Amino acid sequence: PGGNDLEDHQEFNIFIIYTKENYQLQKKFELFTKSLLKFSTVDKLHLHIISDRKSEVSAEKILKEQIEHYRKSVYFTFYDVHKSSEKIKDIVQAMMPFFSSNPGSYYSDALFYLSLGLHRIADPQMNRAILIDCDIVFRTDVRLLFDEFKHFSTDNIFGLAPELTPVYRHILYRYRANYPNTSFGSPYFYVTTPGRKHLKHKQHVRHGYPGLNSGIVMLDLKRIRESKLFQESLKEEYVQQIANKYMFKGHLGDQDFYTLLGYEFPSLIFRLDCVWNRQLCTWWKDHGYSDVFDAYFHCEGNIRIYHGNCNTRVPE
Ligand code: UDP
Ligand code: MN
Repeated sequence: PGGNDLEDHQEFNIFIIYTKENYQLQKKFELFTKSLLKFSTVDKLHLHIISDRKSEVSAEKILKEQIEHYRKSVYFTFYDVHKSSEKIKDIVQAMMPFFSSNPGSYYSDALFYLSLGLHRIADPQMNRAILIDCDIVFRTDVRLLFDEFKHFSTDNIFGLAPELTPVYRHILYRYRANYPNTSFGSPYFYVTTPGRKHLKHKQHVRHGYPGLNSGIVMLDLKRIRESKLFQESLKEEYVQQIANKYMFKGHLGDQDFYTLLGYEFPSLIFRLDCVWNRQLCTWWKDHGYSDVFDAYFHCEGNIRIYHGNCNTRVPE
């Protein structure tokens, strides 16, 4: 199959983290690989797998089986998770106190911050990549996801979809109490009831900013390397300052940081539509947020990618 000239200059790099494999993770990786290959029309798909020795063996086996089955040409490269973690030590050190649930176990934590230092792990010549969780299932051609890069404005360096639970409403509880008019931590669509004397007026539909989910992270690596603002923001002093400002103590690693960065510098992040990362986890519905959960969980349109987060099964 001969792609066109334009496409020869495009890069289709997918990064995926596959470590500490077990039966459950194998099944996720298999579903990810199957669904990726089934729909893909990309000639030069390049998978970059960050892995450990034992997991690498299992990943290679699954990949080879599926490549043979779907008869697609896919390049793949393995990266050692320990070497990769070494390259982002300073970032992990800065972030861990604010965005890890029990800081201490370095390597198990570094995993969840790799996306923030991927520009150091990837080849310096690599211009763009997409980091994808193992618990992702494609319902469409991955080429269309890469096409979303075309919608980046010149300031956008990352692309992420919204978080579809009230987790940031929860974490920002104190901040929201101090700033009752804030839309940070509110669902994307929500209705406000005006003050008593305006009761006869219509309710207003407002846009909130629920936070971001890092199951899919689009990275313009060239711009990331060149962004002084972003490079400064990774430093300990800045991370401390921003976490204090929002009285923020999270546990979701990189996505906590992207969420705060998105509050402070919205132009750095392209808002990928929820259909590209349709999360399925409903944990917060049963943990104190049943009244507002649905407003967060709402996602309209044809689902392109399912994200079976918190071990949720993806519909057949
Ligand atoms: N991961 C891994 N080994 C682990 C745990 C996580 O390789 O033991 C990787 C895997 O790519 C996974 C990602 O880290 O998709 C994020 O974890 P997960 O998807 O389970 O988190 P959730 O989306 O449920 O918050
Ligand atoms: Mn996930």
